[in-house]
Amino acid sequence: MTTLHLIELSCPVCARSFRSQTVVATNGFGGKRTDFHERAAGMQPLPYFVHLCTQCGYAGVTRDFGDEVELTDLIRTRVWSELGPALRHALPSGSLKYEHAARVAEWMGQDARYLADLYLRAAWCCVDEGDVEAERYFRRHAAWRFAEALDAWDGVPAEERAVITYLVGELWRRVGDDVQAQTWFDRVEDEVTEPSAQAWVLEVAAQQKLAPREWFT
Ligand SMILES: [Zn+2]
Repeated sequence: MTTLHLIELSCPVCARSFRSQTVVATNGFGGKRTDFHERAAGMQPLPYFVHLCTQCGYAGVTRDFGDEVELTDLIRTRVWSELGPALRHALPSGSLKYEHAARVAEWMGQDARYLADLYLRAAWCCVDEGDVEAERYFRRHAAWRFAEALDAWDGVPAEERAVITYLVGELWRRVGDDVQAQTWFDRVEDEVTEPSAQAWVLEVAAQQKLAPREWFT
């Protein structure tokens, strides 16, 4: 069950005060997909880890609404002109909230790994929203950002490189690009730093390459 509670937020772009729901607790997980998307029992908590100002379109996690947030005039302008209009013809769904949070995070110069996580969560929301086209769009963005993080000198800690490499393969598999998927699954072996602890990553990469499953057992 997912437990939510209301918090008061003040938008750093348009100064609007509003209330938003946030996740207090989740339990009773109903399994995990092979892209690490956890399924909660009952209502899915994912959309409530990010908040959106429906007046200007600014979005982020709770700290992005804190007093210490400093935004440049350019970012404010871009929020109004590039994010605000989307609210006229789309409901503030979970995926839209994560997409806006990712765009803001990008303008603020956040690293590729952080952006990748936001796009991945946008894709997961699309699964729950039943929007296959948008799901693929966000999976691609997540895959590109994770790949960028792997390319950066310190974008991903050494002990996480194997699992992120696997995840990029799994994202491409779920997009339907089997060629890219296989290439990434094949790279996992070279990224393993602790053979016994990471044996499961090699196993799941081999499985997803040859006989893919949608859920971890
Ligand atoms: Zn606002």
